[in-house]
Amino acid sequence: MRGSELNALWHPFADMGAVDGARLVITRGEGPWVFGEDGTRYLDGTAALWYANLGHGRREIADAVARQMRELDAYSIFGDFANPPALELADRLAALMPAPGAKVFLGSGGGDAIDTAAKVARRHFAELGQPDRVHLIGRGHGYHGTHGIGTSIGGIPANLAGFGPMLEHASSVPHDDAAALEAEIVRVGPDRVAAFFCEPVIGAGGVHLPPDGYLEAVAEICARHGVLFVADCVICAFGRLGTWLGIDRWPVTPDMVTIAKGVTSGTLPLGAVLVAADVAAPFFPGEAGAPVLRHGPTYAGHPACCAAALAALDLYERDDVIARGRELEAPLAEALAPLAGHELVGEVRAGTGFLAGVEFDADALAAEPGLPGRLQLAARERGVLVRPLGRGVAVSPPLVCGQEEIDVLAAALAEGLAAL
Ligand code: PMP
Repeated sequence: MRGSELNALWHPFADMGAVDGARLVITRGEGPWVFGEDGTRYLDGTAALWYANLGHGRREIADAVARQMRELDAYSIFGDFANPPALELADRLAALMPAPGAKVFLGSGGGDAIDTAAKVARRHFAELGQPDRVHLIGRGHGYHGTHGIGTSIGGIPANLAGFGPMLEHASSVPHDDAAALEAEIVRVGPDRVAAFFCEPVIGAGGVHLPPDGYLEAVAEICARHGVLFVADCVICAFGRLGTWLGIDRWPVTPDMVTIAKGVTSGTLPLGAVLVAADVAAPFFPGEAGAPVLRHGPTYAGHPACCAAALAALDLYERDDVIARGRELEAPLAEALAPLAGHELVGEVRAGTGFLAGVEFDADALAAEPGLPGRLQLAARERGVLVRPLGRGVAVSPPLVCGQEEIDVLAAALAEGLAAL
């Protein structure tokens, strides 16, 4: 039987010609480990898709979700509806913002948080009498999800190819050059730019750390031109960078912060935009007759997803998991540093947060574009899951790992490289 007749499941970001009939079916998870259907144990070197920060199999979250589903399984928060977990979660997330009075718009994931932030930015300016402020700027290598707006402002060309025209008023600037952002704002016209989208550490684009002073500089440039600074912390929050939001590692004040993934440790889908008080102000005038944000996904404020998030937040607090990202960053960087000596490796990027990118040498990659995928498989054969991304592989293990797991990860990559 041909592979394509085996199963109907169409995998995201996958060569289905290669995947069909050769799936890695994961059936169980426990702490930083997951298990294949044949019982093989793998170190989850990527925390699934950068989200299982608390590790797998956390009973506290499963129990909280089960309790919530027995009480109220589902209800919407459109209009004047609310439910207790959504209310509590919004307040707890708002408190993570640097200034009081932030508002929280809940959704189902990172991509819809990005679309929400973009639409909030545009509506905010429309309400201020600046309807021409619609332009959105992202960064090279940036990844902001696969919804319409997030795709448009993404900085990974392959993700835009073949889809035809995307959002018209969007552009991208080099990821490491604050002056280039200012030049782009001036080129477009400062009174036409609504927002700049910025991952503190770029994740899916291949793990790119911000140059010293970069985030402070772009935040200042945005503020000076009245452009909203949106910190996309979908990956960076909840301990990945050793702080609650990720952007709060630097002395900058974002106008909006997008989160998802680690907020539930990935256990149920949930994303959110944390909106600074002054950005949300036009929509909260204190009396009826306010502008209505006609926007919101069906599962915004889903009580079971919010219950999962509340249970995850409790675990982050109780076990001091947030600080772990920072404690683990140096050991991970040290363990991976020797890989830079391998002839196929161009660069190892690590040291800010518990994530790293191992990038192949440009010539080696030009000669053999399949290297990232081959290293992924070589590591997998050694019991470690990593992701081929950009020009190399990325790792972002659960924050419940210790030195032992870091050593397992580094050894699998070193042996995998040697085997290539
Ligand atoms: N922003 C960033 C920084 C992300 O890494 C991702 C997902 N990898 C997204 C947005 C999109 O999130 P989702 O896949 O939940 O839509």
